[in-house]
Amino acid sequence: MKLADRPPPRRGRKIPKTSGGRQLFVRLRESLASGVTSLPDIADIVARGLPADASVIYVARAGEVLELAATFGLNVSAVGRTRMRIGEGIIGMVAASGDALNLADAQNHPRYAYRPELGEEGFPATLAMPVKRAGRILGVIAVMSRQTRVFTPIEVEAVATVAMLLAEILAGAGATDLSAEGFSDTLPRRYAGHILSPGIVRGKILAYGAAPPIARLLTDDPAAELARLERAVEAANRALDGLIAGALPRGAAPREVLEAYRMVAQSAGWLTQVREAISDGLTAETAVDKVARTLRERMRKIADPYLRERLADIEDMIGRLMVALGGRPPKPERADGYLLLVRRLGPADLLDWHARGIGGVAIEEASGAGHAAILARALGLPALTLDRGAMEAAHAGDDALLDAEGGTLILRPEPEVVQVYERALEARTTRAAALAMYRDRKAVTRDGTAMTLMLNVGLAMELDQLERTGADGIGLYRTEITALAAGGIPDVAGQAAEYGRVLDRAGTKRVQFRTLDLGADKLLPGEAGQGEENPAMGWRSLRVGLDRPAILRRQLRALLLAAQGRPLSIMFPMVATVAEFRAARDLLEAEAARVRPAPESLEAGTMLEVPSLLFQLPGLLAEADFISVGTNDLMQFLFAADRGTPELADRYDTLSSPVLELIERLVVACEEAGVPLSICGEAAGRPLDALAFAAVGVTILSMSGNAILPVKALLAEVDLNALRPVLRELRRAGAAGGSIREPLAAWAREHNLPV
Ligand code: PEP
Ligand code: MG
Repeated sequence: MKLADRPPPRRGRKIPKTSGGRQLFVRLRESLASGVTSLPDIADIVARGLPADASVIYVARAGEVLELAATFGLNVSAVGRTRMRIGEGIIGMVAASGDALNLADAQNHPRYAYRPELGEEGFPATLAMPVKRAGRILGVIAVMSRQTRVFTPIEVEAVATVAMLLAEILAGAGATDLSAEGFSDTLPRRYAGHILSPGIVRGKILAYGAAPPIARLLTDDPAAELARLERAVEAANRALDGLIAGALPRGAAPREVLEAYRMVAQSAGWLTQVREAISDGLTAETAVDKVARTLRERMRKIADPYLRERLADIEDMIGRLMVALGGRPPKPERADGYLLLVRRLGPADLLDWHARGIGGVAIEEASGAGHAAILARALGLPALTLDRGAMEAAHAGDDALLDAEGGTLILRPEPEVVQVYERALEARTTRAAALAMYRDRKAVTRDGTAMTLMLNVGLAMELDQLERTGADGIGLYRTEITALAAGGIPDVAGQAAEYGRVLDRAGTKRVQFRTLDLGADKLLPGEAGQGEENPAMGWRSLRVGLDRPAILRRQLRALLLAAQGRPLSIMFPMVATVAEFRAARDLLEAEAARVRPAPESLEAGTMLEVPSLLFQLPGLLAEADFISVGTNDLMQFLFAADRGTPELADRYDTLSSPVLELIERLVVACEEAGVPLSICGEAAGRPLDALAFAAVGVTILSMSGNAILPVKALLAEVDLNALRPVLRELRRAGAAGGSIREPLAAWAREHNLPV
């Protein structure tokens, strides 16, 4: 059900069940209403209201120290005197980890730090809760009991809410800026990151999301607050609908992405929690904020990138609700010339910012497979995910360089650095204009070798690239990407519609559809993974397809239906044996026998990603219609080097003698057998690698859209007959397996090649 369909509750209507703590909040509200609430009042109210036998409130002070600011039940004379370093004792541990501790006997905990002045003897049970705001620790609140017991979930929930209110109160009192130590604000700073969407931009920092303190925390009229919430939900839904309808880039996929997002964002689960919190006496904005915090906590602990992204979607919706409730300032009308710096970003927000003219985005918590990243790539908006710390160090309006090609955000860059980037950007603009003329040219080397340059595509919106780059076709259509974006595998009709659109757009150009390559890092919601030790080498991809043939058969049927009598080429990923290829091809043939009209031609090819296939070439070449080398996976299996481990990223190189040897032998074998060979891993789109592949005889390369023109331009300049002896020499000199990238690049520069 759509949220907006839910009628707002009227006064006197039954309000949702409460989660406990109501009395506590009533007293807290009365106290706050008096306008003179102090920390000792809060310590008193939480201890009596829970009830507990004692309570303490520590606040963070500069220098990584927590200072006792108030207590009920312990020695008041310790206030201002008892101090704990972050990480020291139970209180310091909670501050350091950001997680609550609920201990039946804290004083026997190995990390307990005794403070004689405090008088905590006789209060063994301790529940200590971090007081956090915008990811920053402002203090710790703890309650104690004379009995040896753990606090109940309802008590934990109530103290968590008090901790949240306390954070707002401290923020309202200006206590948020506790991190001034450590660095000077005016110095340049660099933050390393991973590229979500390539590009380089300079702009001013726009840090969004550091919400101002909530003005009204508690209410005596939950029904009125519930009605406010429902109105805000309606407004947020309307705004979202408008955004989805209006601000979309061309192509169908952003809509799929946003529809998937809308499903998650508008799911009822988290809103039920908001309604419960309002029934406990929280105002609508406090309740929304509280649920958001819980979600963030969960998000921190979830390893599965897919689920993390879905939670980010919900947070995006929460941001909209906060704006609708007046608890967060609306976004500025225009953001031209600005770089957005945020902790998290959902897809709707990304679109929204794009419509306001933002120049680039740096996100602290995001993954390349996330919705925001997919959209950023489709919009051509440079985006990075950053290591933590930039949000704290950046100031609104700071000059910054977002280098989403080198993977760095530079805050307050030195003038010399700015100059270097500006020169590079100018050169790039000139070069982009020069490259455009290659769009309508054939890819031919200077010595006359004809090359075929194809596209790697994952989303319908990328099909624009076919015309933009003049690519010869689609060498790799990654069918799993739409499934990931949509949160599930569409039914046969849905898949057929998608593949049909791809074939329509490609016209007479060839398309090689790869069957679902799910598993490892590409998990659908609800698939937590198998808990395998090595998921990249686990039950994934075609292995799943062969063990669960219904899924694979449905996809093959959809592909055949989509062809509508046109030529069809299908390839299978992660094939390790000829027998597996044969089994997959048999399924294809079984489906093909049933679908009419039959495709004009039907080709079954294989990805070559698993090295074992190299030792089954005669059998494979007798059966496969074409072969496409997936260097991304092949490299990781060949060198036993995980492709996601940053420490290994530069250790092994495609430009090395073992890899070029392998490719060359493959070229020879494929030529002899008359089987077309292409390369579709990332390496194919790197100009220098493309050059080397062409030199050892590969004539079909498939790459992402932004690589086609640079590679075409480079190939046009190179004489492969001149390069071959050089490459042979470099391979001989590099026979120990190391990279030959540098000397090859030097040769290319000497010959004025645009690498
Ligand atoms: C590869 O492994 O090189 C490849 C193209 O497939 P993917 O990157 O989708 O695993
Ligand atoms: Mg692969």
